[in-house]
Amino acid sequence: MLELSLESVSYSYRRGHLAVSDVGLTLGTGVVGLLGPNGAGKSTLMRVLSTLARASTGRVLWCGEDIARKPDALRRELGYLPQDFGVYEALSAREFLAFLAAVKGLPARSVAGRVDACLEMVGLHDVADRRLGDYSGGMRQRVGIAQALLNDPRLLIVDEPTVGLDPEERARFRHLLAELAGQRLVILSTHIVSDIEASAGELAVMAGGRLRYHGAPETLIAAA
Ligand code: ADP
Ligand code: ADP
Repeated sequence: MLELSLESVSYSYRRGHLAVSDVGLTLGTGVVGLLGPNGAGKSTLMRVLSTLARASTGRVLWCGEDIARKPDALRRELGYLPQDFGVYEALSAREFLAFLAAVKGLPARSVAGRVDACLEMVGLHDVADRRLGDYSGGMRQRVGIAQALLNDPRLLIVDEPTVGLDPEERARFRHLLAELAGQRLVILSTHIVSDIEASAGELAVMAGGRLRYHGAPETLIAAA
């Protein structure tokens, strides 16, 4: 059983101004779309969920454990694709992932097998030995997912992953996320509503630091 539970989570960068305000939310496996305009608090919330920032008040429980008390329990199970993910263009996907696996501290003997498995999961196995400089934007984003999967995480956080992709690559990427979410919780931060319609089973909408809606995407999108 996998559960991420937020209890009245708030975060302030400065005294008085709450970037995240009293967010309560319980999530299990599946893709959750996190939607909201610039400044809504999405990045701040993801920083708290990934233990980069500590909630000012409230708590976050990962499978029942307070992440402020046991951050390592969550970190071990966390995969993250940042918004500005960059690749070494001169390396092949296989070389780049092996490098990242070493940086992340995977045991040397398991690196090759794990890299292979991750390339397979994102559908890049057949082109794994090509230079990343020759990859399309969509392929690079799939490399980004592959690196996030190296430690076999149960929580995958992806930040605005489809920006700059063409429609076909975007569709393929959404499909991949939905597939990965069978056994994981995938948190997809995006401002692209169609990303959520196509891949998210659940939608959370933030504005002004607050959670404004949580539920089925169809209900909200139909009302809009
Ligand atoms: P996005 O909206 O794409 O999530 P932002 O443009 O809000 O990103 O923020 C980009 C970077 O600037 C982040 O690292 C964030 O911490 C920082 N930042 C955003 N707003 C402020 C602010 N008011 N003061 C200082 N840093 C900020
Ligand atoms: P989003 O990711 O939805 O664009 P953010 O979490 O980046 O929203 O921002 C939420 C609020 O926190 C905004 O008012 C933003 O200006 C502020 N903020 C973000 N990062 C910082 C920072 N490093 N220092 C001060 N304020 C920040």
